Amino acid sequence: MEKGLIIVNTGNGKGKTTAALGLGLRAAGHGMKVIMLQFIKGAWHTGELDAIKRLEPYFKIVQLGQGFIRTNKEKQAESTIENANTAWNYAKKEIFSNLYDVFILDEINNMIDYGLLNVDDVITVLKNKPARLNVILTGRNAHNKIIALADTVTEMREVKHHYKKGVKAKKGIEF
Ligand code: ATP
Ligand code: MG
Repeated sequence: MEKGLIIVNTGNGKGKTTAALGLGLRAAGHGMKVIMLQFIKGAWHTGELDAIKRLEPYFKIVQLGQGFIRTNKEKQAESTIENANTAWNYAKKEIFSNLYDVFILDEINNMIDYGLLNVDDVITVLKNKPARLNVILTGRNAHNKIIALADTVTEMREVKHHYKKGVKAKKGIEF
């Protein structure tokens, strides 16, 4: 059995989530089973939600994020912490279901960074995951312990972003 990889897409530049979707698309094309769990729900209904529906049962996206998250890790609301725990329990159940070949944990790095998930709990799950499972973790500020464990880490670095010259979020580009 081939051993799965742990891949991290981090950094402050654009492309972390879309690169993970691209890899998922590639794997789904081989008939592999792919799931993306989105830990932080954005304001937009994104195009990938509808595109990926056409790829079931090979690729599915589940949105777990809800509500308002504070970036100050000391000051999360009780309900936010509860939602994060529920989301993480769901993720663990799906990871250990052994149904998937590629498992994308979208924006999980931010969840750890915001103090909503314990990095050691995530590390324990990654160390005990089904051997063949490939896991991709996206989001800014990946924790050093996650980087140390990963096989591949890519840092998207912002060289320029259209947002800075006032271009608003665009259909097909941001959502
Ligand atoms: P994408 O979803 O386009 O792959 P991402 O996952 O790398 O981007 P996130 O940090 O998750 O980016 O941010 C989500 C949204 O913020 C995206 O719609 C993205 O276009 C936008 N964004 C990403 N990088 C920047 C940046 N450096 N400045 C402003 N907005 C950004
Ligand atoms: Mg993202």
